[in-house]
Amino acid sequence: MRKKLVAGNWKMHGSLAENAALLAAIKPALTGIEAAVCVPFPYLGQAQAALAGSSITWGAQNVSEQAKGAFTGEVSTSMLLDFGCKYVIVGHSERRSLYGESDALVASKYLAAQAAGLTPILCVGESLDERESGVTETVVARQLDAVIRVAGVASLAKAVVAYEPVWAIGTGKTATPEQAQAVHAYIRGKVATLDAGVAAQLIIQYGGSVKAANAAELMAQPDIDGGLIGGASLVADEFIAICRAAAK
Ligand code: PEP
Repeated sequence: MRKKLVAGNWKMHGSLAENAALLAAIKPALTGIEAAVCVPFPYLGQAQAALAGSSITWGAQNVSEQAKGAFTGEVSTSMLLDFGCKYVIVGHSERRSLYGESDALVASKYLAAQAAGLTPILCVGESLDERESGVTETVVARQLDAVIRVAGVASLAKAVVAYEPVWAIGTGKTATPEQAQAVHAYIRGKVATLDAGVAAQLIIQYGGSVKAANAAELMAQPDIDGGLIGGASLVADEFIAICRAAAK
């Protein structure tokens, strides 16, 4: 039986004081519930200190595909490991669209993360234009194939996939449970054509304006195995309610 995993993506939000309050609220409320928070790089040490020994793990929102060297402004996998990270998000649509990350670069980051022992949360998803043009599956397949080509399908046994329709991220427009389920089933089916065992175990999160009010319906879908949560992960009560809905 697959487990469900909810991960918060704090994006470029927070401060030492705000994070301390948020972490202090979610930690006791989620005792025994596996969840994760992906925080901005400067706050990894704070997350580590606050969450060590709890059921909440932590990670980053990006990583360099390079191991070390003259790459000003970049952060390596070994640096994330120094701060006890378990997860790293790769290929978030904001990185793809605002920072020009290609499928190939995302695949390199995924490979580097796994080689270091981090679990990549690989984001895939279509834009509104792409959905309206009927190419959702083509886009998601292309993004997945870029990773499978370089890392192999077996690598997905040590990864999480997050289906995040770009038109639903931070917009307040959630995919309906049926729309999300259809793409999740497509992803699992596609992986199953290559390796049925990996597909059956693969955690596929949904992301895109998930909140306490719509979490239960989304999490009840057979191929939705948790969520990647942006805005609502910054609000303790919302994040707690989403994690509890997934754990039911
Ligand atoms: C995200 O940033 O991955 C995300 C899904 O954001 P939001 O929940 O705010 O739509």
